[in-house]
Amino acid sequence: MAKEEEDDKLPDQDAAKEFYAKYEPKEILGRGISSTVRRCIEKETGKAFAAKIIDLSNDNGEGISAKEATRQEVAILRHVAGHAYIIELQDVFESPTFIFLVFELCKNGELFDYLTSVVTLSEKKTRYIMKQVLEGVAHIHARNIVHRDLKPENILLDDNLNVKITDFGFAKKLAEGELVHELCGTPGYLAPETLKCSMFEDAPGYSYEVDVWACGVIMYTLLVGCPPFWHRKQMIMLRNIMEGKYSFSSPEWADISEEPKDLIRRLLVVDPKQRISIDDALRHPFFQTMKLHHRQFQARQKFQWAILVVRAVIRLQRLKFTPEPLSLNTARTDPYRVKLLRKIVDGCAFRVYGHWVKKGEGQNRAALFENIPKTELKHIYVTNLSR
Ligand code: ADP
Ligand code: MG
Repeated sequence: MAKEEEDDKLPDQDAAKEFYAKYEPKEILGRGISSTVRRCIEKETGKAFAAKIIDLSNDNGEGISAKEATRQEVAILRHVAGHAYIIELQDVFESPTFIFLVFELCKNGELFDYLTSVVTLSEKKTRYIMKQVLEGVAHIHARNIVHRDLKPENILLDDNLNVKITDFGFAKKLAEGELVHELCGTPGYLAPETLKCSMFEDAPGYSYEVDVWACGVIMYTLLVGCPPFWHRKQMIMLRNIMEGKYSFSSPEWADISEEPKDLIRRLLVVDPKQRISIDDALRHPFFQTMKLHHRQFQARQKFQWAILVVRAVIRLQRLKFTPEPLSLNTARTDPYRVKLLRKIVDGCAFRVYGHWVKKGEGQNRAALFENIPKTELKHIYVTNLSR
């Protein structure tokens, strides 16, 4: 396709001599509406980076120009720099037709792709990721910046699967007590108060709490693989968001403990004033179950021994409840109820259709989890047989 080839072409060499003198561009890592992100190698050191190349050729004098928007993004990136969970901007080159932003490279790519590869995350992994996301967002807010586009596509993972929050393209610095009204972000992650601004003239506006809401949507999605408010019809999805209508009723939730559900309930509160604060979210019991890493206590071995004994006793007591042999009949008639089979079924679906999961609203991802029609079909089939 000619258009595709044209898009893949590297920017004019003359336009950014400085960038090309210093870096060797390699393969494409990701794309945005008017940007392409490529891996690149710093010639002097051989170190790899990620260059976001922003095409300014579509600037037509209408609205805010890509150049101005990128300058604001750079100012915000510099303002929030210096935190372990925020992407680091290394270099900026500006030419009349392109702007090059050179970032530290996140070898493990987007949290979105990681989630697609593993389908769902365990509570432990979700705790690990969400703690870092919330700490990163707390830092951003402490610098008076609201991100406004938090989603798994904009959360990158470094070599050690540590979080790096990126894409400050919609981020905005807020004055003390300032409320804003613009509708920006990604539909599935929009907070109710943001939607209200686009519906009612007299809506009060929104603030930092929209990022907390997005964290709730992300956390829900990590645990069960599909987003909370999804509906095939976008209008209904938006209504679900406005009403805070979601549920923990899909079979995946049956195996998930109460603590993460409780935290999600507090994050996805429609009234931003009643929504949990980031600091309280980080103090929530879900994050208090971290493993003890420090081994300074002299009594450590004694303690470990006590735990082993207690655990053994509990296991012995539970013995009569735990063995739950997989009945062939359950596996045949309702395989989705069995966690292991469900994982295999979802894993296979993602292996076959994973490429089809589009970024943005998580809509196709949710469709992959839609198993209700199948259940209905099976039901009809069974009734017909019994006739
Ligand atoms: P946009 O504003 O166009 O969405 P992003 O900054 O989100 O641009 O980058 C687009 C995509 O490029 C990301 O979702 C990711 O896949 C990839 N990407 C961006 N920065 C990096 C990086 N530092 N390391 C690895 N991949 C990156
Ligand atoms: Mg992005």
